[in-house]
Formats: sequence, structure tokens, C-alpha cells
Amino acid sequence: IGIGFLSCHKTENTTENSSLNKEIERKVDSVLNLMTLEEKIGQTVQYSVGGTLTGPGSSSSSRDKHEKIKKGEVGSLLNVVSVARVREMQELVMENSRLKIPLIFAYDVIHGLKTIFPIPLGESASWDLDLMKQSAAIAAKESAASGLNWTFAPMIDVSRDARWGRIMEGAGEDPYLNSVIGVARIQGFQGDDLADNNTIAACAKHFAGYGFAEAGREYSAVTVGEFELHNMILPPFKAAAKAGVATFMNSFNDIDGIPATGHRELQRDILKGDWNWNGFIVSDWGSIGEMRAHGFAKDKKHAAEIALNAGSDMDMESYAYEASLATLLEEDKISLEHLNDAVKRILRIKFQLGLFDDPYKYCDEEKEKNDIYTPEHLAVARDAAKKSIVLLKNDHEILPVSKSVKSIAIIGPFGDNKNQPLGNWRGKGAYNSAVSLLEGVKAKVDANTKIYYEKGIDLLIPTVAPGERQFLHPLKINTENKDGIAKAVAAAKKAEIVLLAIGEDAYQTGEGRSQVDIGFAGLQNELLEAVYKVNKNIVLVLSNGRPMDLTHANEILPAILVTWQLGSESGNGIADVLFGDYNPSAKLPVSFPRNVGQEPLYYNQKNTGRPYHPKHVTYAGYTDVEKWPLFPFGFGLSYTTFSYDNINVDKATISSKEKITLSVEVTNSGNIAGEEVVQLYIRDLVASIVRPVKELKGFEKISLNVGETKTVTFTIDKEVLQFYTINKKWEVEAGDFQLFVGGNSATKLVQKITVE
Ligand code: BGC
Repeated sequence: IGIGFLSCHKTENTTENSSLNKEIERKVDSVLNLMTLEEKIGQTVQYSVGGTLTGPGSSSSSRDKHEKIKKGEVGSLLNVVSVARVREMQELVMENSRLKIPLIFAYDVIHGLKTIFPIPLGESASWDLDLMKQSAAIAAKESAASGLNWTFAPMIDVSRDARWGRIMEGAGEDPYLNSVIGVARIQGFQGDDLADNNTIAACAKHFAGYGFAEAGREYSAVTVGEFELHNMILPPFKAAAKAGVATFMNSFNDIDGIPATGHRELQRDILKGDWNWNGFIVSDWGSIGEMRAHGFAKDKKHAAEIALNAGSDMDMESYAYEASLATLLEEDKISLEHLNDAVKRILRIKFQLGLFDDPYKYCDEEKEKNDIYTPEHLAVARDAAKKSIVLLKNDHEILPVSKSVKSIAIIGPFGDNKNQPLGNWRGKGAYNSAVSLLEGVKAKVDANTKIYYEKGIDLLIPTVAPGERQFLHPLKINTENKDGIAKAVAAAKKAEIVLLAIGEDAYQTGEGRSQVDIGFAGLQNELLEAVYKVNKNIVLVLSNGRPMDLTHANEILPAILVTWQLGSESGNGIADVLFGDYNPSAKLPVSFPRNVGQEPLYYNQKNTGRPYHPKHVTYAGYTDVEKWPLFPFGFGLSYTTFSYDNINVDKATISSKEKITLSVEVTNSGNIAGEEVVQLYIRDLVASIVRPVKELKGFEKISLNVGETKTVTFTIDKEVLQFYTINKKWEVEAGDFQLFVGGNSATKLVQKITVE
């Protein structure tokens, strides 16, 4: 029997939607009732299928996988990307299995599928939630057009340590920013209705704590206390659950001794219990089996037992569930109730996606031809690129550059690099497909402007063939070949202005790419010094996936632009900013330190008694470096200036159930139109646990013409004031709070309020 009769249909209004949920539940139950134990276990299995499973030279394990898929004993595949391949795999199930339960196809669509947007950390610098929703929606559309129905994104791990390679994949160091950006991305991927043909299921990852890997060491242990976990790490996940994210992914790390994959309290009690979330949890790659390496499971079977009991619903690439769940059931080590719950959760998402209705709904060759890498998508990528660029320094208003400038030297390994801007986790972004800086500048300047391009040096010595995936292959830094520096110096000598395109390679960040050094690797400093000797008019066009050590560059160079890895339209976006067609508006989502030794460095620290300042914020520090960051969280310049006046709160004292409205007048006090991200921070002065010296609680991005004033208002209510208190509950505690408003996290106190 097939189960096409159980298909569900879209409904319009909310009353019907709640009946739709009931309808889906009824269907999920009916399917479950038809399933054998093998079929149930099968739904919890996810394989990565990169190539063909049965062709000549295929391995016996591939052929086994093929057979299992045919029997309907696999629930999901990852890394199958193309309509033809998805169709082929789905057909295997539809034409051979007993119940014809469709597969769900996953892929890491992190910042675009083929149209590549800025890396997530970079795009987060835009603080533009609509934009991020839009780019995620385009990524979803392109993915759906490629046969996919599930992305392993967004990563919403709060990450405070620049050494951690995966910092590039999230929204930085702040829980509030990660929450709102995470929700925007989820809404973009999933749309209003998962059943829509252009939307896909999202995945909130990594649950939880991965961003707190000790000392930024990749895959390292996480040791945080309960209050830190609840106040700093979990809020973005709670927001994602509330926003209806379809899936969660757990994490490689342990938290205070308990591997996240085997963390019953986190998964079963908090996420599925307290938060009442109905989606399913997929393990991280092999993380169930890896509990053996943690010394938490004695063998794979034991690992399967721990993981299922802890609430991990789907096994990505550990082969532990398929091997052991049946025996574990017989031995009463796991319960049928838990297995049924896992299967129901997986079926529920498949129903919501409409896969039972039409298992081939994502297999549309026309869409694959027409909906990917379109001019419309590239236009949004350009918009995202320019809005993600952070201007950190602009002495003597060296920027913007006039389009009729006589001569420009573009120097550095990223000056004409068409691959670097695609960043790590680039989906199906084609090799060398991005607009380079040189191309972007050429398209912008007058015909008479002379452009001298010199690479100067190579940052890397290639370790893979051109176009081959660098992903986890080791990197080799060039420390010897400096033959090009002389030419770069000659070019710099001739030019009015130098654009120095250095930083770090796209593959110096991402998974498995933690580093102890966050300075300019290889010969880049040498290149910088050599060029600086002959021309001081340098704009540093930094390419980076993490906060870098810019202390020296900041001392000597007049202008710094943080350009991350900006995606397909990188060069055009940078040129828009360089030549003033776009006035930069981005703000750092992470603190930039003065020295790597300060890491982890973040603005929302806790005060200690030493040095003693009852009233002032004191960062615990070192003797050999100033304790403040070089550039604080939330910081970014514009070509104009903004003034903040008439800050007002409508009440100074409230009860914990009341709210306060804070208003501030922001004026564009410079000579060109611009956008400002107006930020609200609070500090709870005395509380039942030590609270951070500042916490972001709201922001609004506004645009202002020259001389224009806008009033921005923030509501300060329970949502803003509450935290996870000593009572292990989210509560507002009575007492005094400070409010801070401004254009970055170093902004000064503006008001004090009291909650009675
Ligand atoms: C990463 C995940 C990713 C998964 C599948 C893992 O190594 O940690 O973030 O989604 O691989 O590619």
C-alpha cells in the first residue's frame, strides 16, 4: 500500500491552520500505525550520498545503502544536490518500498546555494533583518529548485572567540543579535508555509554550546555553568524554537562533562519539554558514534542508547541507530514510546513540507534551469555585500574615493581574486565566480583613471587543484616567495591611492579552522610595510572571516574597511562603498581585539571586584595591553555623522509588569545621507547572579537625509529586563537598571530606571 491518500493541503486562516495541525497529527499517527519496526528505525537514519551508489566500482557499503533506501529503511539523505539525483533517489523509495515514505534531502546551504551572499558573520554586520530574511529566502528558492528541502542553517552559536574558525558562520558574540538574526534567517528559509514550493526546512545549530569551545580550540570541551548556559547560549535557540524552526542539530562538544548529543536535559527536558517544540533533532555528523571517543559510551550500541534516550531523533552518519535500536528495544534499554516520538517528529516535518502530497515537488527541471543564479538574486547579493562592509577608520576623509581619481593601485593577494569572496561553506558557488575587487573598481571609475594591479604575494601555496573543494584539506602558507613585492611597490609609487587587499584566506575560517594567530599570515605584513614606505595613502580592504588583529594597521593606515568574504557580488559591493555610491552602515557583530591574547573578548562581560570600581565598567585585563577592544561590538563608521539628543524615558520607576518607553532623537549631522543602527543596552545593577556590564536589548536601523532627525523609541518591558535568575526561572528582579543608547556598545549611560 502507498500512503498518498494521507496527503495534506494548505489552508489559509489560523483557525483552519490549527485544524491543519490536527490533521497532520492524525496523518502522522496513521502512518506510524502502518510501520514495521525496521521502517520506524529507518526514518531515524540519515546517509551522506555524494556520488552514485551502484555504478561500476561502487563499494559494498554503498550497495548496502542502496538496498536500504529501496526498502524504505532510510529517512533522509544529505549532499545529494541536483534535481536528477534527488529524483533518482526518491524514485528508489517510491517505486520499491512498502509504505513509500518520501526521503527528506538536506544540504549545508549556509550563505547561499549558487548565488553566494556574504558569510553569515559578515551579513550579520548589516544588522538588517529584512535583508537577511531576503537572502535566506533566495537561498531557499535556489535550494528548492535543486531538489533540496532542508538546510543545516542557521548556525546560532554565540561565539566570542576570534580563534574559533566557525565564528564566520554565525552572528557573533551577542545572544540577542543571534536570536533576531537567527529568526530572520529561519523565516527566510521556511517562509510562511513550509509547504510552499520555494521554501525549505531550516535547522538551528549547534545545540548547544559549540561556540564556547574552550580557548577557541575546534571541537574542544565546553565548560559553562548553568546560568551562563541559560542566559548566554540558549536564548537564540529558544527564539528559534518559538519561531517554529523545523529542526535542530545537536553538537560535537560536551557541556560540563555531558556530550550535547547525549544531553537529555537539554534536548528532552528543555527543548522538547519546557519549550514545547515539535520538530526533530538531527545529530551532528557522526556525533552519536563519537560519544565513544568522549569516553561517554562504551561502544556504538551504547552510544545509540544514550542518544535516543536523550532525545536525538535522527542519526547523521554514525550508523548507530540502524545497527542497534532494534536490539536496544528488545533489551528494554530504550522505549518504543521514545522511538515512536522520534519517528513522528520526522514524519511531521515531511508532511509539513508537503512531501507526502508530492514526493517530487522539489524536482522541477524548469525551476532548476530558471530559478538559480538569476540577475534578481545577484542584485540582492550586491545589496547584501555593500550593506555588510564595516568602515573602521577613515582619517582625513580619504574615503569615498572620487570616480575621477587619476590613478589607483590595487595590491594584494585578494585584489583580483574571484574565488576568495565566496568564503567557506559556499554551497554550489562556482569556482572563480565572484566579482573581484579589481573588476568592481574597473566598472566604477572614469575611463581616464589608471588602475595598476599587482598581487605582490600569494598568501597560500595551493594544496588542491584549482576548483577542487578546499573544505577540510590542510592549508599551506607562503612564507618564501616574495618576488612580486617589488612590482607592487612600483605600482604603489605611481598611484594616488592604494587599495591593499589582504587579510585571511576564506579557508582560514570555517569548520576545523581554528587558529592561534589572528594577524596577517605569511608575507602580508612584509607587503604592507614595503608598500607603506612608498605610499601612505592606503585603504586596507580587509578580507576576513573572524575579528583580526588590526592594531598595527590601525596605527599607520588612514582607512580600514572590513569586507569579510562578501559573496558573488563582492567586488561590486566594495566598489559601491569605496566610491560613495553607498554610504557604509554596517556595525561589528564581534569585538576586534588589540591582541589575540585578549581572546575571548566580548563586550557583555561581567564585572569583578578587581580593579574595584563600584560604579564603572572595568574589563579584567593584562599589564601589557590596554584592556578595551580595539574596535568594540556594534562599532562602525559612516561617511556622515549622527548626533543623539533628547533622550527621554516616560517613567523612571515601574513595577515588573509595566513598561517604559525610551525615546531618542537621532540626527544626521553630516553632509551626506546615511543609515545608523541605533542600539539599546541595559545593565542590571544588582541581581541574584552577577549580570553583564552591558547587554544589547534592541536596535533599529534608520536612514536619515542630511540634517534630518528621527525619533527612535524602544519599549523596556519584561522581555528586556528578565534573565535566568537564581530561582532557575526567567524573571524580572526588582532594583535599578541602567540604560545606554548609541551607535555602538561603548556608548555612555543615558538613564537610570528602577523596577519596584
Ligand atoms: C558540521 C555541521 C554540518 C554537518 C553536515 C558537520 O561537520 O558540524 O554543521 O551541518 O557537518 O555537513
